[in-house]
Amino acid sequence: MNFGALLRSRYAPCRIAIVVSFSMLPLGAVSAAGYRTPNFVVEAPTEALARKIGDAAEQYRHDLAVEWTGRPLPRWSSPCPITAQVRPGLGAGGATSFVFEKGEVFNWQMSIQGSEERVLDSVLPHEITHTIFASHFRRPLPRWADEGACTTVEHPVERARQHTLLIEFLTTGRGIAFPKMFAMREYPPDVLPLYSQGYSLARFLIERGGRHKFVAFVGAGLDSGDWARALSSHYGVSDPSSLQEVWLDWVRKGCPAPPASLAGPPARPVAGMQASATARGQSPDPLPAPPQPVPSQTAAIATPPRRSIYSLAAARSRVAGGSDPTRKPEARAERSVDSVP
Ligand SMILES: [Zn+2]
Repeated sequence: MNFGALLRSRYAPCRIAIVVSFSMLPLGAVSAAGYRTPNFVVEAPTEALARKIGDAAEQYRHDLAVEWTGRPLPRWSSPCPITAQVRPGLGAGGATSFVFEKGEVFNWQMSIQGSEERVLDSVLPHEITHTIFASHFRRPLPRWADEGACTTVEHPVERARQHTLLIEFLTTGRGIAFPKMFAMREYPPDVLPLYSQGYSLARFLIERGGRHKFVAFVGAGLDSGDWARALSSHYGVSDPSSLQEVWLDWVRKGCPAPPASLAGPPARPVAGMQASATARGQSPDPLPAPPQPVPSQTAAIATPPRRSIYSLAAARSRVAGGSDPTRKPEARAERSVDSVP
């Protein structure tokens, strides 16, 4: 299969998917299975689970903020309510919403679900990373960068699943062309490729400069709106189209590790998770080498259909403005939905 042609052939108009409906858990209205930490109020099936999730959330919040931005986050003015459904066999997923207004972010709300293991090792760090990015950037990120980067902190099993899905999407015409993907502010109708492609690209960039550089790159792109310039200045690639070709070539070669001269600082294991680096060979043509021509034929990689744990729940609605008459028009509600249909 020709990945490049498939990518280009699969455009879908993106649909606005801002959800501004909130079901805030009133602070203090915590059930018997509740637990409060400085930054979170957790409601979970049991006291022990609430405590475990709350402590893990604080640990992730600290460790991942340092990992991404170099410093811990200051304490939020109001804690983030977390509602957790935990039981064996429950599909893993989560949703986090918050509001941006005048450079501030607030009205946190997080819902997580899954087995205890997956909630603690994948769903929670993923959702906490959304809150770290919201607190750091104070504005919405491109969805590919947000979901992609958040997926890089999940358990290796989940990241491997995203890679499997990626190959399936690239060989079945569901890839998203990078110029389109970079312009997306919201989730596309066919959302799963955004997750797997976003994850793969975030991993590709992080392996070539580390997480701090990735955050600096996203910040530069957000500041200027000129993603080509941000790519050029941070990664030596002229624009999203060129990056697509280099990235596709890397995927086709099995995602080899970059040479040490281009690799970022080694990822520190986060709260018991494995480092993001996995055993790979050396790349013969790492960034910023010129993009290789895409062969007309690449062996198709057949994989059975699989469902991501981070697939979107069925429909997202856009609630008309005015649900909160006190909110200024520039307030923007963000919701990252990573739940299982
Ligand atoms: Zn997410």
